[in-house]
Amino acid sequence: MLCPVCHKVMIIVEHHRIELDYCTQCGGVWFDASELDLFINACGLPGPDFSPETLLRKPEVKETPHPRKCPLCRQKLRDVAIGEPAVIVDVCRRRQGIWFDGGEIQQLLTQMAARTASPEDASKKVLEFLGDTFKARK
Ligand SMILES: [Zn+2]
Ligand SMILES: [Zn+2]
Repeated sequence: MLCPVCHKVMIIVEHHRIELDYCTQCGGVWFDASELDLFINACGLPGPDFSPETLLRKPEVKETPHPRKCPLCRQKLRDVAIGEPAVIVDVCRRRQGIWFDGGEIQQLLTQMAARTASPEDASKKVLEFLGDTFKARK
């Protein structure tokens, strides 16, 4: 699969049986539909619903000058804001998956971990994931 930003071939990263595509060039991450929810649950984060179904119901963010295309269906991705402070993610209009720019997934996960009942445990799991996924592959 090609990165929607730099059009390089992405590598597949597996963590606790959840697969994601990672671009070593820009640090962006693609989750197939519903994999993000699985992953959030695996980390024990009480996140919002990240299914493309739910994300597509949120209002579209208009200010992106260069719309990206879905690496699967080649349709324009829809920009949606999640979290507080907001992170802009790109969602496939055909519900195939979600794209995070480099650093966005880290930002979002850290944010969510901080809001759990035991932020230290949650942060540990998040860091473990981020370490597993991104560290050795730069
Ligand atoms: Zn890239
Ligand atoms: Zn698509």
